Amino acid sequence: MITNRPRLHASAGSFNHQSGGLSTTDLKDHHAAKATKATKYPKEINESMQAAPPASLQGDDDGPMTGMTIKENNKRKIYRTLYTQGAKTKGQIVDSTQISLSTVDNNLKLFLQQGLIEKQGFNSSSGGRKAQFFSINPKYRIALGMGVLQDHLHIVAVDLKGNVIGYESTDLHFAPEPKYFNKVHEFIASFVEQLKLSSPQERILALNIAVQGLLDESGETLRFGNLLGFNNHNHDHDETKAMPLSQGQSQSQSHTLSIQPFIEDTGFVGRMYHDSKAAAFYECWTHPDLEQGTVFLLNRNLGGAIVVAGEVVNGLNASAGIIEHMCVDPKGELCYCGARGCLENYCSANALQQKAGMPLSEFFDKVRQGDKKMKAIWKQYLLYLSRAIYNVNMLINGKIILSGYLMPFMTDKDIDFIHANVVDHNIIPLKREDIILGNAGDYTPALGAALYAIDLWLNTNFMTA
Ligand SMILES: [Zn+2]
Repeated sequence: MITNRPRLHASAGSFNHQSGGLSTTDLKDHHAAKATKATKYPKEINESMQAAPPASLQGDDDGPMTGMTIKENNKRKIYRTLYTQGAKTKGQIVDSTQISLSTVDNNLKLFLQQGLIEKQGFNSSSGGRKAQFFSINPKYRIALGMGVLQDHLHIVAVDLKGNVIGYESTDLHFAPEPKYFNKVHEFIASFVEQLKLSSPQERILALNIAVQGLLDESGETLRFGNLLGFNNHNHDHDETKAMPLSQGQSQSQSHTLSIQPFIEDTGFVGRMYHDSKAAAFYECWTHPDLEQGTVFLLNRNLGGAIVVAGEVVNGLNASAGIIEHMCVDPKGELCYCGARGCLENYCSANALQQKAGMPLSEFFDKVRQGDKKMKAIWKQYLLYLSRAIYNVNMLINGKIILSGYLMPFMTDKDIDFIHANVVDHNIIPLKREDIILGNAGDYTPALGAALYAIDLWLNTNFMTA
């Protein structure tokens, strides 16, 4: 079931905290800042995925603080302190939050009852009576993310800290018909079973999906998805045409695709995300200091996303950052989008594989063994990628995040080569360390999709759950 994924291979199939290349430790200590920073979600997410949170949890309350809002704020502050600062004793929480000991005590009791937090050893350094440590229970809620590609499905489960608690992959050709969706449902069910969660329906916040395609403004349906066989971009917006595809309908009967057929009958709620943006969200989560930059998703098909002020930019038509369709050569090869000479034809893993004429694992073996022809193909690829980074750096003078499927194959030397070519004759400096490397391979979009659900929960109603 597990396909070629060098860094993940060692621990494939193990559903525990140690998930090898996915580097749970990178995720674990993530972003205190981001957990408390509201991410902008379209209005309907709150309605479809979560009960409306109390107003006091949605941000600063301009009005006078009522007894209830003070109570809610205290709860939130205590939980947030434990979430962002790790295990603490009662006294340390009091010091950190400036909330009275009795209030802290009452809330901790409540949290323990609810399962939101857990006891975690004793503070031995305090002298005298040892103080109990409390920490959040990261498995209190789980989110699932699924990456849907032409010929593959990836699924991941992450906990509230972003720790990867399971992942799985299968080869399955995308065909929007009942047979396909039945197999997807079986795949999901078997994955959830392997997680061995008690009350999975209650604990799984959402099953979000990352797809190769542009979504419409509502974020509910695919507006442009040639890779999955959908092309809706020439149709005027028409509610009847934008109806979600339901089971039993074939592709020819529907112009578009929604999340419904993926999740119906699974009992989960969910939302669809553009895979590049989901990947960028993952990179923002794992790199909390990332303020501005461009994500190059080096997947089988190329993708991209822009990050400004720590947020993934959506764009006027939810299409910002699609570097894959930047024209590199107007007379070049035809791209799946209908245009010619797109960067997709030069920098996608598929394009590379086509030029190599063999599976990429084999190709990279040959490159590393010094095969001249294969080395030349790889060099050409890196030169095109460098040129794209050079150009993008003119627009977004930020960090460059290389992410996705090809990353496990890249060596430090390759990155040095890219860097040297980007800075050559470039009036904008780019430090070598400003090229950031993603670590989750082709699981990146699925992880980002899952993390959207975690982030939403943390920022809205974690106290009411
Ligand atoms: Zn194109």
